[in-house]
Amino acid sequence: MSDHRIFADYHTHTYYSHGHGSPRENVLAAIDRGLEAVAVSEHGPGHFTFGVRGKKLDRLNGELTELRKEFSGRIDVLRGLELNVTGFGKSDCPENRDDYDVIIIGYHKSVPPFNRHALGIWGESLLGIKNDPHRNAEGILAAAYACRANIISHPNLYLKVDIPYMAECCRELGILLEVNSARVTLSKEELIAIRGSGCGLVIGSDAHTPSRVGDFALASAAVEEAGVWSAVRNARPV
Ligand SMILES: [Zn+2]
Ligand SMILES: [Zn+2]
Repeated sequence: MSDHRIFADYHTHTYYSHGHGSPRENVLAAIDRGLEAVAVSEHGPGHFTFGVRGKKLDRLNGELTELRKEFSGRIDVLRGLELNVTGFGKSDCPENRDDYDVIIIGYHKSVPPFNRHALGIWGESLLGIKNDPHRNAEGILAAAYACRANIISHPNLYLKVDIPYMAECCRELGILLEVNSARVTLSKEELIAIRGSGCGLVIGSDAHTPSRVGDFALASAAVEEAGVWSAVRNARPV
């Protein structure tokens, strides 16, 4: 297997949305796994069922600030958020975007305004486009650019995008494409195209329980198989 070590998990969830552990449990799990940094990046306010918003989001952010102080010197605790694409070029980006250390953006279902795709009927997207991967990529990229996202999570999930095009744009914008370790959404060919474009990759666990924090097995296997470790920004050779 690989001779690379992943040192940070920027994509974890907790019971603030639909996960099962607390922020503290995620931090402790990350320390156990030998990570140097961990973010709690809950679903943004625009997600109908899982979104964290209002006072609850304030409480989570307060908790993360406390954890950051408490664990200083042992692990870097980061304040993250996984935003939802809510339309072409649009997201639920908060006004205080700069208060966050890591902004992830992803295309999800169950995000208003509801339409047939949000209800699970494949073929019609929130972006108002029928299965045009290039146009889908443009809509997501425009949303990522507008909120100055750091990472696009699970590209291709629920909505096929033109990966070579997305990678070219992300390289220009300094946005990383995620190899999601809950389910890998990028083919070997796509991973090779991303590396070829000069765009960076980031591996994220997308953990919804503390036991999965720092679980990079699936994504690592895909990266290894494609031979693209050199593009992974949260890994280093050992
Ligand atoms: Zn997601
Ligand atoms: Zn997620």
